[in-house]
Amino acid sequence: MLEIRLLGDPVLRQLAVEVDEIDDHLRRFAEEMFETMYSAEGIGLAAPQVGVSRRLFVMDIQDGEAEPRAVVNPVIVERSGSERGEEGCLSLPGLVGAVERSAQIVMEGLDLDGNPLRIEASDLLARCILHEIDHLDGILFIDRLSPIKRRMLLSKWKKLQKEERRR
Ligand code: ZN
Repeated sequence: MLEIRLLGDPVLRQLAVEVDEIDDHLRRFAEEMFETMYSAEGIGLAAPQVGVSRRLFVMDIQDGEAEPRAVVNPVIVERSGSERGEEGCLSLPGLVGAVERSAQIVMEGLDLDGNPLRIEASDLLARCILHEIDHLDGILFIDRLSPIKRRMLLSKWKKLQKEERRR
């Protein structure tokens, strides 16, 4: 299992670089990312969250419709609308906040065979993709909250971390 990096780890704030080779090594890494995501009960996990500053993420929103996917070098090519929705993050366990994001998006990228991938998404799937791409740009969901809400969550975070250390 890969170690999930938490808020405060500098790798979460780096701009991840493009993947230039899709090979067995990358496919194995994506498999490990899926396992890590499922065991942490997340619906998405970006490579920087396990300490690898590369443009890759995995997701499975488990809505019975969208298939699990690994996406390499994703870009948003279209976006419209806006919607607020609750988000959490495996790198900030215990925190949730309502984030405003585009309601409909079109994402392009590559799959693990190097084939072009184009996904039209709305609702939770769009939110998940935008959240994961933010990770590749060093952005966390708390950055998208109002300063007051962010301060509240950060102080909760400090409390949670203190309790964690005491255990
Ligand atoms: Zn996250």
